Amino acid sequence: MIENCVMNTYGRYDVTFEKGLGCKIYDTDGNEYVDFVSGVAVNCLGHSHPAIINAINTQSSKLIHSSNYYWNTTHTVLAQKLVDNCDHNKVFFCNSGTESVETALKIARKYGTLKNVENKNVFIYMDNSFHGRSIGALSVTGQEKYQKDFRPLIDGVRKVNFNDINDLEKNFDESVCGIIIEPIQGEGGINIANAEFLEKARSLCDKYDALLIFDEVQCGMGRLGSLFAYKKFSVIPDVICIAKGLGGGFPIGATITNVKASTAFVPGDHGSTFGGNPLGSAVGVAVLTELVDNGVIAGIEEKSLHIKERLLKIKEKYGVIDEIKGMGLLIGIKLIADTKIFCKLCFDKRLLVIAAGDNVVRLLPPLNVSKTDIDGALDILEIAISETKV
Ligand SMILES: *Cc1c(COP(=O)(O)O)cnc(C)c1O
Repeated sequence: MIENCVMNTYGRYDVTFEKGLGCKIYDTDGNEYVDFVSGVAVNCLGHSHPAIINAINTQSSKLIHSSNYYWNTTHTVLAQKLVDNCDHNKVFFCNSGTESVETALKIARKYGTLKNVENKNVFIYMDNSFHGRSIGALSVTGQEKYQKDFRPLIDGVRKVNFNDINDLEKNFDESVCGIIIEPIQGEGGINIANAEFLEKARSLCDKYDALLIFDEVQCGMGRLGSLFAYKKFSVIPDVICIAKGLGGGFPIGATITNVKASTAFVPGDHGSTFGGNPLGSAVGVAVLTELVDNGVIAGIEEKSLHIKERLLKIKEKYGVIDEIKGMGLLIGIKLIADTKIFCKLCFDKRLLVIAAGDNVVRLLPPLNVSKTDIDGALDILEIAISETKV
């Protein structure tokens, strides 16, 4: 095992990567791996994409950082490009998914504070959800294993069973300022929110004047076949959290609000030193241009179908797969066997995949993955499945 001064917070594979190209990544011994993790849904254009390299080179030779005391030329362009593709009108920039969630929670608390209702400060969150590791985001993350050693967490939170309309109604009242939902739970195991549940959440938010927050950090930025995940569902949230794919590997996050939520914050309420810096924003613009204008998103549905058809065949043939889950290029394979052992088996065969939730293996290829690379990855996956004992 590699011993060094990096803090012991991750269970890592015993490998060191040094370069990547497309959906291939190479370790320090020159071994090539097919990367279907994409930095956990981050490298949406694969490794070393020329649009990202060019944006970094061009912008870094002009202006990298200038602070939010001033405007800069790229954050306004990125904000405009985001709102042009949704039903919302304002964007706050930060550096990660966790921060985008913290921002959304603070917007909802501020929104509640502005209402003439005492203690309108409660968040509703979902069982099995994942929203990040900071104390705020962790307080609305419905997984005991992440919360247990860090109490007390923040007050004013209520957990509801995912997709359970009765439980949602029971817990909703005037004191709720916001509800946070992943349209598809990523870390929780690729669980899709059902339409009636989301419609109920929307109507309860309208009835009790609370904000509906969608955490699209993992399922957004094109992964489902539309730039924003909510477009694949029947409701429009008030607040959207994005990050991961937005920078294609460069750290950037954003919280997007509609007119109802946009007026909650005023100068002084929230901030970020790096958020919206010229370099990160330039990369975000380059990524969105590829995804939206240059047709990457348009190709996702077909790739998704291709993967699912092949997986169905593998499911029939070996009896190791219980269920194929997910949408677009956020695909979960629920196994009857142990997922940790399975992911390691794939790793040994030079295919990178990761586990999620309850016995699910996640496939998160770059969104511009080629059919050839998909077939190559699925060939390896099939061999691993054929060697897996139930
Ligand atoms: C990854 C993730 C986060 C946290 O993002 P970070 O960039 O790691 O802070 C929040 N919500 C969801 C749904 C995620 O998948």
